[in-house]
Amino acid sequence: MSSLDKWSDTEAQEIITKYLSNNVSEDLAIRTYSARLLGSDPELVLHGGGNTSVKSKSNDLYGNDIPVLFIKGSGWDLETIEPPGHPAVNLQGLMELRKLKKLSDEEMVAAQRRNLLNPNAPNPSVEALLHAFIPHKFIDHTHSAAILAIANQPNSISLCEKIFGDRVAIIPYIMPGFDLALSAANGYEIAEKKANLNGKSIEGMILINHGIFTFGETAKESYKRMISLVNEADKYLSRSVTLQLKVKEKLNSSQKRNCLLLPYLRGVLGRKALDFGETNNWVLETRATKSILELLSKNNLKELISRGVATPDHVIRMKSCPLLLDSFQQSSEMTFEEDISKWITSTNQKVDKYIDNYQNYFDENNKRVGYTKKQLDPLPRLILLPGLGLIGVGKSKGSSKITADIGEAWIETLLSAESIGKFEPVNSFDTFDLEYWSLEQAKLGKKKQSRLSGQVVVITGAGGTIGSQIAKDFSDLGAEIIAIDIDKNSAQNTIKECNSNAIAIQCDVTSSEELENAFNEIIYNFGGLDILISNAGSAWQGEISSMQDSMLRKSMELNFFSHHYAAQNSVEIFRAQDFQVSSDDKLMGGQLLFNISKQALNPGKGFGAYGIAKSALLALMKQYAIEEGSRKIRSNGVNADRIRSGLLNQDMIVERSKSRGITQEEYMSGNLLRTEVTAKDVSEAFLSLALMKKTTGGLITVDGGNASAMVR
Ligand code: ZN
Repeated sequence: MSSLDKWSDTEAQEIITKYLSNNVSEDLAIRTYSARLLGSDPELVLHGGGNTSVKSKSNDLYGNDIPVLFIKGSGWDLETIEPPGHPAVNLQGLMELRKLKKLSDEEMVAAQRRNLLNPNAPNPSVEALLHAFIPHKFIDHTHSAAILAIANQPNSISLCEKIFGDRVAIIPYIMPGFDLALSAANGYEIAEKKANLNGKSIEGMILINHGIFTFGETAKESYKRMISLVNEADKYLSRSVTLQLKVKEKLNSSQKRNCLLLPYLRGVLGRKALDFGETNNWVLETRATKSILELLSKNNLKELISRGVATPDHVIRMKSCPLLLDSFQQSSEMTFEEDISKWITSTNQKVDKYIDNYQNYFDENNKRVGYTKKQLDPLPRLILLPGLGLIGVGKSKGSSKITADIGEAWIETLLSAESIGKFEPVNSFDTFDLEYWSLEQAKLGKKKQSRLSGQVVVITGAGGTIGSQIAKDFSDLGAEIIAIDIDKNSAQNTIKECNSNAIAIQCDVTSSEELENAFNEIIYNFGGLDILISNAGSAWQGEISSMQDSMLRKSMELNFFSHHYAAQNSVEIFRAQDFQVSSDDKLMGGQLLFNISKQALNPGKGFGAYGIAKSALLALMKQYAIEEGSRKIRSNGVNADRIRSGLLNQDMIVERSKSRGITQEEYMSGNLLRTEVTAKDVSEAFLSLALMKKTTGGLITVDGGNASAMVR
């Protein structure tokens, strides 16, 4: 599929009008518009890749109009860029740098910052000087997959000449920075002069092994040239580029079975990570598109994937190559346990080999650059698992998704490149220089890890008042959230309050079959699990002596069995993650957190069905603490009482306070602390337990103080 021309004069005008009312100039407004168009096409731009600029005027401190370059600032994504995403840099100041013969990266960054009109603006792109030195008003730069399929060939230069004629300048590979800016500016001038001789002008530049620039006097002209050159490249390819991210493919039954390997894999990766001072909770993103399967079916797969990245800045996300695992073989003469054991052994060996190779690559290159670099962790970020697909590995779902996106773009480039010749990207020296370039690492940011980052947390009854509060609070501390509820809408409303990678699953937790499917979905989406918050519940009222069996059973199903099923499914995943772990300090463990109730300790009249089930749940919590403690699986509970929620709604509060002859406020704060207890208080108790690493078999009371419900 070729890249679509999405330009609309009407939309462009609308944006100009909208921003003019906010004092944004027409130049910057239209720059923002076309930058977003480029950013919305994954075949052109992905996650912080690509950059755009416009040469215009802006006011300095004295109110003088001075020429500036509005250039993409680091930390902004083209897809969602706003006007401040293109900070203004004094153009004259940048142009003067062209007189220099040499300029180190640090000096370049400093010079760019010195010329910012707003000293608080983000750092201008590392390609800012290149934009400054090309004398066109609008400049666009992308890492188009179709262009890269052409620009990563042994004969890239002659191929580009053949396809694009004198429409473009062709610039051999140089790492981004001052030298590339100079070489591109010189290359531009030579190609432009040559084109002028034929009465023409060039439209862009192909940077071998790197990407494409286009330019024009208007944003529209530059954008249209980008689309036209990219489509020209795509037309030449025997295998067209198709990169549709965000489309979830349906797995076939054998792929679904192979998803069950993911928690085992997560465990292996986590244990290796500990060896390098990293945390062991990694999050996986699994993809199985047609293109991924096409790659996996290649005869020369192993050699093919070792060739390198499609454009150098991908290295910071996917390292220089993915890890290829053996497929899982189920044999008729061995048990599943034996088969999995065999697969884990081979997986461990493959990961070790990957780490060894990475260390050799680092040592060799670090020697070349005079031992000036500090090694990053050598763990793979992209994994190919035959029989399933591609797996992105990250410290959060967000980063594993980005890596998987980059991986898919790399696969598209590689396969399309192979369709016309040989995929031959930048060599490992140049890849290393980019991977260990301080300016590239800055793109990843130095975000402080949140306390629960990397922790995969499932909450049942997540659509209710307490469940949704728990989901939000755990998400705020960086956890990945799966909200389970029998009511789809309420679960979906809950995840709107959480980080964007949270998922909602509709499930009747009293059905062991539905729960099993829900947990399989969790495995597929996150690769494993760290914390179960078993929260779903409901209270049926009636005297126990005359109670229908069916009501008691219904209460047992929801208030006891659903917790039992959820805990069983969770422990199965925890055990898979810790399969055959040899030493205790390598265990990932896991957590079971149950919403019990004060009814378990302090039964109330007419609440037998509820209290009896909750007493059994209390026993279940203790049982897990006893049986799973040695596997570092912790089991704890929260006893809450009198919380405004689905279980205690406004009508019930009115009725109960009336029958006691007290006000609603008195009823709600009828405890030792004389204060109403809220869903937030319950949620904080769950959070505390989640963080209390040395507590298991514990019960926390959240009821404002009630002597008869005290744990004794
Ligand atoms: Zn670039």
